[in-house]
Amino acid sequence: MTTYHLPATEAAQLDSLLEQVQTCTNNFLGYPVSKDFDYSPLLPFLSYPLNNLGDPFVTSTYAVGSREMEKYVVEFFAKLFRAPSDDWWGYVTNGGSEGNLYGLYLARELYPKGMVYYSEATHYSVQKNLHLLDMPSIVIRTRENGEIDYEDLQNTIRMNRHMPVIILANIGTTMTEARDDVGRIKGILKELAIRHHYIHCDGALSGSYSAFIEPRPAFDFADGADSMAISGHKFIGSPIPCGVVVAKRSNRDRIARSVAYIGSMDTTITGSRNGHSPLFLWYALKSLGLAGLKERARHSLSVAAYAVERFHEIGIQAWRNPHSITVVFPDPAGNIRRKWQLASENGWSHIICMPNVTTAQIDMLVAEIAATFTSTAVPVL
Ligand SMILES: *Cc1c(COP(=O)(O)O)cnc(C)c1O
Repeated sequence: MTTYHLPATEAAQLDSLLEQVQTCTNNFLGYPVSKDFDYSPLLPFLSYPLNNLGDPFVTSTYAVGSREMEKYVVEFFAKLFRAPSDDWWGYVTNGGSEGNLYGLYLARELYPKGMVYYSEATHYSVQKNLHLLDMPSIVIRTRENGEIDYEDLQNTIRMNRHMPVIILANIGTTMTEARDDVGRIKGILKELAIRHHYIHCDGALSGSYSAFIEPRPAFDFADGADSMAISGHKFIGSPIPCGVVVAKRSNRDRIARSVAYIGSMDTTITGSRNGHSPLFLWYALKSLGLAGLKERARHSLSVAAYAVERFHEIGIQAWRNPHSITVVFPDPAGNIRRKWQLASENGWSHIICMPNVTTAQIDMLVAEIAATFTSTAVPVL
C-alpha cells in the first residue's frame, strides 16, 4: 500500500483551510445549505472507491457501490412526491442542476418538437441546460412574489399551441422561494386542450419539504408533474453536493441503452456516479424518518416567521412567500452582506432559515443591521 506523507507547509495549509471553513460555516445565512448533519459513522466508507455507475435499478459488474441505499432514497422520494406506484424511477444526481437537465432531456426525447416555458425567476442553470439540449424556449413573466404569471403563460402557450408544451415549474425559486402552482398550470393546459405536454418541477430546496406543509401545495406527480428534481445538500444536508431526480419509468425506458462494458443500463447523465452521496441521503432519511424531516420543516418555517417579525420591529420591510423559509429584505450594508454571505439581486437580499439556523443568529443579524441606522462605525466582527 502506498503511504502518503504531506510536507509540513501543506499540512499547515490544510489546518488553516479547516479553520477558515469552520468560521465561515458559523456565519452562513444566505444560501440554502443545511449544516447540521453528522455522518461520522460513514467515515470508514471514505476508504473505498464507491461508484454506482449505470442504472441504480440494474446491477453492474462494478460491485463496489451503494445501489441498495440509492434505490431506497429514490423510492422514498417517489412516494413522498406521489409518483404513480407502478411507474416511477430515478437516481441520485450530482445536484439539482443535473436533475433539471435530466427532466428536460426526457421531455425532449418525448417531444423533440416541443417548446419549453419557464419563468424569469428560474435558476440560471436551466438556460444553460436548454442550450446544451438545443431546445427552443420562451421566458414567462413573474408576479411580484416570484411566482410564474399564469396569464402570461396561458397567452404565450395559446400563440404556440401547435407545439407540444414543456414546462419547467419552480417549486421554490432561488431568490424568493416562490412556488408555481402545478395544478393551475395543468388547468391551463386543459383549458387550451394541449394534448402533448410535459411538466418538470425544479424543487431544489422547497421540493424536499413541501409535502410536509398543510395545506399541501400543488407541486408533485399527483398534481401533474412528470418529473421532479431536488438538491440533497440543501434541505437534507450533505458534505458533498448531490440531488435526486424522480421520473416516470415509462419515460426512462425510451432512452435506456444497455452497455456491455458496465453490465448495466446507461440511463443516467454521467458515467461514473458518486457512491457516497446516496449513503449520506440514506443515512439522513433512515435516522430522521418522516417525523424528523417534518420537524425540520416546522423549525425552519417558525424561524422564518420570527425573522420577518424581528425585521419589522426595526422598521425593515422584510417579507416571505407563504410557507417558505426564505426571508427577503432590502440590501443591508456591504460588510454585513459579506459577513453573513448574503446573496443579493436587484437591491434585495435574502436569508434562508435552514434547519440549523437559530433565532439567536437572527437576533444577531437584526441587531447588526439596526446598528447601521444609528452609527456609521459598525462593529461587525
Ligand atoms: C440551488 C438551485 C438549483 C441548482 O441546484 P444545485 O444542487 O446547486 O445544482 C436549481 N434550482 C433552484 C431553484 C435552486 O435553488
